[in-house]
Amino acid sequence: MFAGRNNGRPRRCIFYILAFLFSQFLFILIFLRSESFDNVPFRQQIKHDNDSWDHYLDWREFISYTSERSAKFYLYNLNLSNTLGVIRKLPSTRHYSCGYRPRKLPPPSKANVSVVISFHNEARSMLLRTIVSLLARTPEDHLHELILVDDGSQDVTLLNDLRRWMGGVFGARHRLGLQFLANRERMGLIWSRNRGASLASGHYVLFLDSHCEVNEGWLEPLLERLALNPQLAVSPVLDPIDPLTLAYRKGNELLKGGFDWSLHFHWLRRQLAEKELPEMPFKSPAFAGGILMMSREWFLKLGGFNSYLKIWGGESIELATKLWLCGGQIEIVPCSRIGHIFRRRHAFDFPPQSDAQETYLHVRLI
Ligand code: UDP
Ligand code: MN
Repeated sequence: MFAGRNNGRPRRCIFYILAFLFSQFLFILIFLRSESFDNVPFRQQIKHDNDSWDHYLDWREFISYTSERSAKFYLYNLNLSNTLGVIRKLPSTRHYSCGYRPRKLPPPSKANVSVVISFHNEARSMLLRTIVSLLARTPEDHLHELILVDDGSQDVTLLNDLRRWMGGVFGARHRLGLQFLANRERMGLIWSRNRGASLASGHYVLFLDSHCEVNEGWLEPLLERLALNPQLAVSPVLDPIDPLTLAYRKGNELLKGGFDWSLHFHWLRRQLAEKELPEMPFKSPAFAGGILMMSREWFLKLGGFNSYLKIWGGESIELATKLWLCGGQIEIVPCSRIGHIFRRRHAFDFPPQSDAQETYLHVRLI
């Protein structure tokens, strides 16, 4: 009797080992399938109503038309950017509770967004990743339109190639409006964003830079806050993307935006109140950079960005001041994360003999 029992043991052992190996194999298979998302050509990842790809310009082909420039031109790693693909997996940088907390979102018929991206001499691959991350990680129903403003880029075929590429990839998303605008000459960021907003028709307008990657679930926490107060303007926490390694890091949710008497922007450390958690939305004197979202109507009622400001700078501080004076409020929402390349210097020119600060303080322009 005992001998019979002992004979069964090795067989049971083998069975358990095989079952263990099989479950490991299954686990690896599932893992590989989810990882391979980033390697699949983008057109297979987006749902389509029609399967016609006649006008499709492959994204590799689109990038291959990037004009020859030295690394100094862009001030980030162009070669690496060109090899990263149109979308990549990003680390989740927000607090884990942000993902599972149920959100009270208004219906899309009452809360949709026009995204305005103005760009001047942005590398094609970088701009593409900004757009694709946005389209892939934004709930379709809440994304009303995308307004692209080419602000006098030297790459003169960029906008048209972009139109061809996007028509092929996103043409079947009937709800998504696309506007491709080209300024006749370089007008600067402020003028271009005002132009985009004046042509927008969504409930909200979001201003986004052309070297960003939006992270999962970035929009919902912003919409939730805006639904509570129509005079609010919100910013995500910006996660820094390293210009050299393009590594995506976690941004600090304990910093708010401020400025000094020379209208220089500063990050300020904030103190948490009792029972306040770092992931809760918080008030800020100024925006965290130039990426912000608010009601389009409210933005236009405030006069948009001050049109006397030229090229770059000062506009978000000026908008913040108008908001304060007119009963508005700025909030930064740590459950919303957008990656942004922070460069040490500006990659573009300012008017002759002026730097950024002299330009927005009008030292030489008036
Ligand atoms: N930009 C523009 N016209 C200009 C200067 C900048 O359209 O004359 C764009 C730029 O390509 C970027 C956005 O405005 O998408 C913000 O500029 P930048 O990233 O240099 O500002 P920062 O992030 O340094 O505040
Ligand atoms: Mn930027």
